[in-house]
Parts: sequence; C-alpha cells; structure tokens
Amino acid sequence: MAQVCKRCGLDTRIPNITFDEKGECNLYDVWSKQYTYDNLKTIVKKIKKDGKNKDYDCVVGVSGGCDSSRLLLEAKKMGLRPLAVHWDNGWNSDIAKSNMQKITSGLDIDLKIYSCDLREYNDINRSFLYASVKDVDIPNDIALETVLHDAAEEYDVQYILNGHAYQTEGTTPLGWTYMDGKYIESVQSRFGRYPIKTYRNLWLDKWLKWCVINKIKHIRPLWYIKYNKAETKKMLNKKFGWEWYGGHHKENLYTQFGMYHNFIKFGMDMRLIGNAALVRDGQQTIAQSYDATKDPITMTDDELNEIFKVIGITKEEYAKILALPKKTHNDYETYQKTYHELQDFFLALAKLDLVPMTFYLKYAKGI
Ligand SMILES: [Zn+2]
Repeated sequence: MAQVCKRCGLDTRIPNITFDEKGECNLYDVWSKQYTYDNLKTIVKKIKKDGKNKDYDCVVGVSGGCDSSRLLLEAKKMGLRPLAVHWDNGWNSDIAKSNMQKITSGLDIDLKIYSCDLREYNDINRSFLYASVKDVDIPNDIALETVLHDAAEEYDVQYILNGHAYQTEGTTPLGWTYMDGKYIESVQSRFGRYPIKTYRNLWLDKWLKWCVINKIKHIRPLWYIKYNKAETKKMLNKKFGWEWYGGHHKENLYTQFGMYHNFIKFGMDMRLIGNAALVRDGQQTIAQSYDATKDPITMTDDELNEIFKVIGITKEEYAKILALPKKTHNDYETYQKTYHELQDFFLALAKLDLVPMTFYLKYAKGI
C-alpha cells in the first residue's frame, strides 16, 4: 500500500516524494518565515520608490482567474500603480475574458494584451504533442514569461508581480515539468510545420539582459498574505461581478487539455498538488481532497474535437500520439548544459539578487 502524507494527503504517485519520521512529506518545505505581511510592506515601499515618476511601478500578469484577480486587487490596495498584462493565446474562455475586463475596469487599471500568430503558436503546441513529453503546455508558460518582461522593458518597470499562490497551488514537484526557450526551439525545429517567427520565445540572451541590465525582479505577493480561495471567489463576485468557471485552469481550454493529456498518457494528476496545498493551509480536509481527485480527468468530445481542429491533428493522429514511446526534455536540446557550465556565473548573479536563488539551485546547480 502506498504511503500517504499525514499532513497533506499526497502519496507516492508524486515523483521524488519522501517522508520524515512523523510521516509528513517533503514537498512543502520551501515555505518559510520570510513571507510575512511586514516583509511584503517593505518590498512594496521599494517598488513605489523605484517606480516614482513612471507611468506604472509594476507589471501584473492577468488571466481572469481567481489568483491574478486577487493579486490586482491587493496591488491596488497597497497603493501600487500596476499595468495589467495579458498573454492571449486564443484559448481563453469567454468567462475569463469578461472577468479580466470587469476587474481591470473596476479597479481602473490599464490592460495591455499581447499575442502572436496563433497558427504558429498552435503548431508549437502540436509539436510538443509529437515530442511525446509531459511539457505540453510550456509554450504558454514561456510566452507569458516573455511578454511580462517585454512589457516591463517597454514601460521601464522593474517589478513583475506574479499571481502564484503557494497556499492554494503548492509547488510542482521536480520531474513533472521542465521549460526553457531552447527546448521550445528544438522541439519546434524537429516537429513543426512553421518556423518560430512571431512566437514570444524566452531566449537566454534576452532573459539575461532583463535580469542583469534591466534588473527586472519577480515578486509573489500572494505568498505573503492570508489567501483563502473560496472566500476570495465570493468577494470578487460581490465586488466586481467576477464569475467562477468551475475548476483550476478551466479558464483556458488548452491548459485544461494539457492536464487531461498528462493524466491519460503519463498518469500524472496535476490536481493532487493544488488539493494537497489547500489541505496543508487548512482550507480543506484530506477527505475533501480525495473527493476532488477521485474521478479521472475527462474532457467532452466537443472540447477534444475543437482542440484537434485548431492544432491541426485528427482523432486518429491523437491516438497515435498517445501510443508514442514516452520521452523527456533530456531527449531534446535545452539550455540545461549551458546553465550548468555557467553555474559559477549564475551563483554570482543570484548572490547579487539579479537572478532568483531558486533558479540557480534548480537549473544551474541541481543537475
Ligand atoms: Zn505532505
């Protein structure tokens, strides 16, 4: 029988999970005492000071989801002057779009939307399916990361506020996902039908420039506050007419498909992490968490057909993709080798707070 964490309910379906003598897992140990509201206030003060005389003092990525909506509200409450930035990959639900409008206009925040040639973008998505890896939704994550930096550079802003919520999302275990710009290029050059022209890829030289020259930093304000998701949804609805779309990542059909695909091809259930985080934060019980993850992840035929049509595969081709031998990012070219070779350089940058220490530990040192 698989071992189950006494604290959060996660079990040995999670790669690299270990348990201590109390029977508690190792997956939530990154949380630390530095994430206090007082420390956030100090950071906010600095953001305001550095952003003085600029149109905006920070960039906030928005999706219309609960986390980023709450983040915008907090930013405004703390007296920040954010520019809301949205990466439109064409897969947003109508509810997500209308939520975004409601929140930004309700808070009087400017919204800037970035996109690219969606035919090219969806071809990259198709390539990642053929690559037979778990990282099928990273073209989205990478482009989002890039446009946030593009916006920060364009408006001369030094801070990107990120809506990641440790309390409700947890942290993705090592071995579940990998991403970098070279990986995208390598997969696309192998399986793609179009070259990368307009897609917002995160090239290493650009990223280094943003870190070292522009000194753009990421802050995750939700880590520092008390963040209850159920209460937040109710509050957002009451205040702005914001609507819940029925599940984490359901604001975007392709992200939902990514979860489905990884579940049926790799047996990887991304719902486990978020639900365990809620248990650990006292927002639900282990029993509720089991209940929320006991059924398989499914999609309707209509949803699947829409996805196949847009990315340009047939149902039969998808069946073949599911049967392809499983691969990982190590089967493709990535920046990993470069990161590793430059690890002393990245350690120096991390000590100067120019790249996140977690980046050094995870990507440069930890290979
Ligand atoms: Zn645990």
